[in-house]
Amino acid sequence: DDLRHNVAAFPGKPALISRRVADGRTDVVTYAELDQLTDRIAHGLIRLGVRPGDYVAIQLPNRREMLPLTLACIKVGARIAPQFPIYRHRELDFMIRLTEARVFITVNQLGDLPTAETAMTLASEIPTLEHVVVLGGDGPAGSIGFEEHLLDPEPGDPAELAGRALGPDDPFLILFTSGTTGEPKGALHSQNTLHAAIRGYGDAYGLDDSLVIMTAQTSMHYVGLVMTYLQALMLGGTAVTADLWNPGVYLDLMAEHAVTMYYGTPPFAREISEEQKANPRKIPSLRIFVSGSAPVPPHLVEQVSEILGVRVYALWGMTENGGVTMTRPEDPPERAGESDGTVVAGMEARIVDEENQPVPAGEIGALQVRGAAQCLGYYRRDEIYAKSVTPDGWFDTGDLARDDGYGGVRISGRTKDVIIANMCLKLPVSDIEALLGRHPAVRDIALIGIPDPKLVELVCAVVTPAGEPPTLEDLRTHLEDAGVNSWFWPERLELVEAMPRTLTGKIRKVELRERFGAASS
Ligand code: ATP
Ligand code: MG
Repeated sequence: DDLRHNVAAFPGKPALISRRVADGRTDVVTYAELDQLTDRIAHGLIRLGVRPGDYVAIQLPNRREMLPLTLACIKVGARIAPQFPIYRHRELDFMIRLTEARVFITVNQLGDLPTAETAMTLASEIPTLEHVVVLGGDGPAGSIGFEEHLLDPEPGDPAELAGRALGPDDPFLILFTSGTTGEPKGALHSQNTLHAAIRGYGDAYGLDDSLVIMTAQTSMHYVGLVMTYLQALMLGGTAVTADLWNPGVYLDLMAEHAVTMYYGTPPFAREISEEQKANPRKIPSLRIFVSGSAPVPPHLVEQVSEILGVRVYALWGMTENGGVTMTRPEDPPERAGESDGTVVAGMEARIVDEENQPVPAGEIGALQVRGAAQCLGYYRRDEIYAKSVTPDGWFDTGDLARDDGYGGVRISGRTKDVIIANMCLKLPVSDIEALLGRHPAVRDIALIGIPDPKLVELVCAVVTPAGEPPTLEDLRTHLEDAGVNSWFWPERLELVEAMPRTLTGKIRKVELRERFGAASS
C-alpha cells in the first residue's frame, strides 16, 4: 500500500504543511508522524465507541489534523462526512440527520461561526449524534477535547484494530455537491473511486514524489481533501495549505515551500494573480496552475499565466467523479482558454442528444461519463441517482458540452442553465459569458434567462463592474464587434456588487434568477 511505502521511504518528509493565518504558526506533519497520529486517533475513536460503518461528521478549517483523521477512520472502519466550513445549523441539521453521524468533530470557532456551540445544539436535538469533539481546547460544556481524548498517548492494542479496516470498495466518504442547482446530494465514494481519480490527475500532469501541491479550497471537499491532501500522500509528495483565504499568505507559502502545483477556482485564481501583480514574489518552482470547478474565462487564463509566469490548465469535474477532463502540458498553447481538456485514464466521456446518441462533432449535447472514479451513488437518494444513469451505465452529468476540436471537451453550461433566446434558439451561455468577460468594464458576468411573454426567455446579463460600470449598449456593441448574432445579445443588464457564489466558486444562478426573475418591466 502506497502509504506504508511512503512512510518507510520518506519518514522525515512533510506530508502536509499548514499555516494558521491568525498567529502565523506553521504546522507540519511528516510521513512518520502521520503514521503515529493515525494510529493514536484510530484508538481514540474506538475508545469513543465508534463502530464500523458509523459516520463521523467533520467540520474543520484547513489544518493538519484532517489527514490523520481521514486515515484513522479508514483504519477503524468508520466513514467520514466532511461539512463545508460555511455550513450553519440549517445545513448541518440536514447532513447529520441524513448520515446519522454519531460523532461531530470541529473547532470552537470557524471564522465568526460558533461551530462547537452549533454542534452542541444539534447533539441536543438529534438523538443519533452522541459526541461533539472539539480541537484546540476550550470546547463548550459537554463536548470532548480532541487532544485529550482522541490523541491518546497510551499506545493502543493493535488487536483492537484487527478486522475493522474498510475494504477498498466499501463506501468511505460522503461528499456533498455544492447545491448550485438545488438540495445538495451526498456522493458516496470508496477508496477505489478516489484512487482512480488521484491516478488520473497524477498521470495527466506526470506527478511524482517531487510534488508540492497547494490549494485554498477547503479540505471538506473534493479538491482540498482528495486532489490535494490525498494526492500528495499517494505519491510521497507534500501538500501545503492555510486555514484562511488570504492571497498574500498563499503566495508567501508558495515561495517559502517551493510549491510546484496550484489548484484554484476562478475567483481564487483571479485574486491570487491580482495580489502577485501588486506585490510580486519569486516562485520559480511553480509549474502547473490548474483552474477548474467552474467556467474558466479565457481572459483569466491569460491573466494568470502572464502574471505568475506559469501555464494554466483547465479542469472539469464534479463531486461525483473528481477531475474528469483536463488540459495537459503536451497540448498546443492555443488550447488553453478554448477547452476543458481531454478525459483522464480510467474514465470515458461522450456527448449525446436526447436519445443518448452521439451528436455530430462540434454540436452541443449532454455530457455523459463513466469509469473507475465515478461515485457509488447518492447516499439515501437512490431514486435521484438512478435517474442520472443510462441503461448502459453512463452517468448524465447535467452539463452541456461540445467537442473542443482537439479531441476533448468544452463545457458550455448546464442543462438546466439553457437560455431559450429569440426564435427558440438555444443560447451558447458559456461562450457568450466568456466573450463579455473580456470587456474591460466587466469583472464578473452571469447570463440568466428571464421568462418573457414575447421572447420566451429574455437574456439578462448580471455584471459586477470593474471600475466604471458598462451600459447595456456597451455589452451589445462588444458582442457585435465579436461577430455574435444579435439574437444572442442581452436585452437587460443588472449590476451587482458581488456574485452569490458557492464555496466551490460557482455562481449561484438560482439566486440570481430569483432576484431578477420577475417578468421584465
Ligand atoms: P449541485 O449538483 O448540488 O447542483 P454542483 O453541480 O455545482 O452542485 P459540484 O459537484 O461542486 O456541485 O460541481 C460540479 C459542476 O461544476 C459541474 O457539473 C459543472 O457544472 C461545474 N464545473 C466544473 N468544472 C467546470 C469547468 N471547467 N467549466 C464549467 N463548469 C464546470
Ligand atoms: Mg451537480
